[in-house]
Amino acid sequence: MAEQPAGIVYSPASGTHHARPGRASGFCYLNAPVLGILALLDSGIDRVLYVDLDAHHGDGVEDAFADDDRVLTLSVHEDGRWPFTGKAEDRPDAMAVNLPVPPAFNDTEMDYLLETVILPMGRAFHPQALVIQTGADALAEDPLSRLELSNGALWRAVRALMGLAPRLMVVGGGGYNPWSVGRCWAGIWAVLNGIDPAVPPTPEAEGVLRSLSWSRAAGRNPPEHWFTTLADAPRPGPLRDEVRRVAAAAITKMVRTG
Ligand SMILES: [Zn+2]
Repeated sequence: MAEQPAGIVYSPASGTHHARPGRASGFCYLNAPVLGILALLDSGIDRVLYVDLDAHHGDGVEDAFADDDRVLTLSVHEDGRWPFTGKAEDRPDAMAVNLPVPPAFNDTEMDYLLETVILPMGRAFHPQALVIQTGADALAEDPLSRLELSNGALWRAVRALMGLAPRLMVVGGGGYNPWSVGRCWAGIWAVLNGIDPAVPPTPEAEGVLRSLSWSRAAGRNPPEHWFTTLADAPRPGPLRDEVRRVAAAAITKMVRTG
């Protein structure tokens, strides 16, 4: 099990990664991850790793720190989706690594990017603080992306990353299916506390899940497991060449920029 950081902040409502200094963007008014990282830098920390697992590119955070060597930003997001930035070849000299992934991105592919790119780069950076954006919109049951992760893939990522730095800030992000958001982020809470999230919800938690409503078609007849489990069924799949290419491009970039 990964080493437990000395200090952990978990703020599920604070993953507003699109907002800019002068304007709101993409459902985000203030950029909480940027403000959190600035607070860390102001306190004297000078190496912050930001890992963004939302289905959309973490453009506001990347823009804030692209020219700041103290912050390395890493974003996994669906290629060709709004805001249409975050290509692998963008900003060749910036401290920003982008992993744009194809539709149907699966658990096997997320694990691969974690092991081959995210963890090695994170370790090599020797961060004093780590910020993880855990948007739940890359999950298969989310309507705003075509990515197909299970919540277990995000939990594994958080568990693997959390030992990389002595200070950890975890924020939420997007997520537009209320059941998958609630189950995913409750599970992250468990992971951060060293508890296995793959257990049945308590009766109180099940009551909360049964009380939710959602106006989309998928919300009219929610499947029973959205009430009675926190863990999704795993969603393994093929490791496709597009994902291998994205990983190779990221590694090449980091070798070049040092
Ligand atoms: Zn998103």
